[in-house]
Amino acid sequence: MRLLDREQLIEILQAQPVFELIGRVADEQGVECYVVGGFVRDLFLERPSKDIDVVCVGSGIELAKGVAKSLGRGARVSVFKNFGTAQVKKGPVELEFVGARRESYSHDSRKPIVEDGTLEDDQQRRDFTINAMAICLNAARFGELVDPFDGVWDMQDRLIATPLDPDVTFSDDPLRMMRCIRFATQLNFEIEPETFEALERNRERIKIISGERIIDELQKIMSSDSPARGFELLFQCGLLELIFPELYALHGVETMNGRAHKDNFWHTLEVLTNVVKKGGDIWLRWAALLHDIGKPKSKRWDPQLGWTFHNHNYIGEKMVPQIFRRLKLPMDERMKYVQKLVSLHMRPIVIADEEVTDSAVRRLLFEAGDDIDNLMLLCEADITSKNEVRKQRFLDNFRLVREKLVDLEERDRIRNFQPPVSGEEIMERFHLQPCREVGVLKTAVKDAILDGVIPNEHEAALQFVIDKAHKMGLC
Ligand code: ATP
Ligand code: MG
Repeated sequence: MRLLDREQLIEILQAQPVFELIGRVADEQGVECYVVGGFVRDLFLERPSKDIDVVCVGSGIELAKGVAKSLGRGARVSVFKNFGTAQVKKGPVELEFVGARRESYSHDSRKPIVEDGTLEDDQQRRDFTINAMAICLNAARFGELVDPFDGVWDMQDRLIATPLDPDVTFSDDPLRMMRCIRFATQLNFEIEPETFEALERNRERIKIISGERIIDELQKIMSSDSPARGFELLFQCGLLELIFPELYALHGVETMNGRAHKDNFWHTLEVLTNVVKKGGDIWLRWAALLHDIGKPKSKRWDPQLGWTFHNHNYIGEKMVPQIFRRLKLPMDERMKYVQKLVSLHMRPIVIADEEVTDSAVRRLLFEAGDDIDNLMLLCEADITSKNEVRKQRFLDNFRLVREKLVDLEERDRIRNFQPPVSGEEIMERFHLQPCREVGVLKTAVKDAILDGVIPNEHEAALQFVIDKAHKMGLC
């Protein structure tokens, strides 16, 4: 972060003429007015900031209307009367206006009773000290920082802390608990110890928050540079168990006859971190987070084999849509993609563990299609073994799988496989109506190609169908 004195703040604000304009309109209306919250924080932290929040001691709606008028053509104002807020847009500039307010909460809702208040009242109702700083825009005090809770110090110390008693702040609006962990993750800040203890004490209050609000914060954690840290914090304060029980269930180690399995929660976070390091986007990160989600349900003790997790990928595949639906994640091709990767994540490992045959690689390519590269990336990220010899053997075999993938794709074009003999052609040639035999023949051709019995070409495939149809007594 950088320390900024008033001169420097004035210079920064003057670079965007809209701030002086807001101050002039506020002076005309006779109200105090400040830029506040995330925008101020991000000035000090040198982060880009999208939205500009303005608070005035008076009517935010009147100030917004006045500002829109001064901005002239192309400025549009939207008023949200129920909330006492207004938005002004002109080109890329987006301003939110609100009158300073005092809030009081009832126990069962995060919707407060709102009254007009002072600037200090308004700063107190904000979630964290670093989000409660204001800079005055009125001409006489332009650029003056108002920081009653020492947000600047907390930014220097890299701390997330609440302006008031954290039990009150979190209990009033439990969404702030998610925001607390989200900011700690995004900014790579520590959570001040008392604030963290209040997270633990108030965690049950998260139950009054809607799934949509929770997933918004989870997605921000997921998109950050170190999402694993966010999940670690959620785990440590007890929120994870409440909002994401399937992920929490991965935690723990059981021992039988002196044999323990690995802790799948910490393993999953390691895989997530590996995927982030390799540049994985948000949906590949979700696939990493969920790749072993079926393990708790599939865990068995086998006296010969030890701990097994047979079919955990298929159980996981079934759990993905349930989890997406509950967390209010999109139920579209993005869910299907995550589901596919969870389902297939063991395949390259199994291939690499045995002999890397053409046929196995062709089948993998057929099922993964265009997602093959991301699947391979996930599988490499999944190798977290501390046994260097074992790890190296897998990575070497993966290199072999990758080489074969390139080689076979060039030769057989399996990635976007289209059967070289269509169902229509089969029906026409053997005078068949749509029936089971057509399906049998099509599958037989596909298998023959994937097993390398015939090349992926029309003539060879047709000859194969004719031979097979003979054997089936179709001609
Ligand atoms: P970002 O835009 O990067 O998510 P931000 O701090 O700007 O971060 P917003 O949600 O845009 O967050 O909110 C703007 C400001 O409003 C915050 O800085 C904070 O002062 C206040 N705020 C937002 N949500 C809450 C809340 N749930 N409780 C208290 N104050 C809040
Ligand atoms: Mg914001």
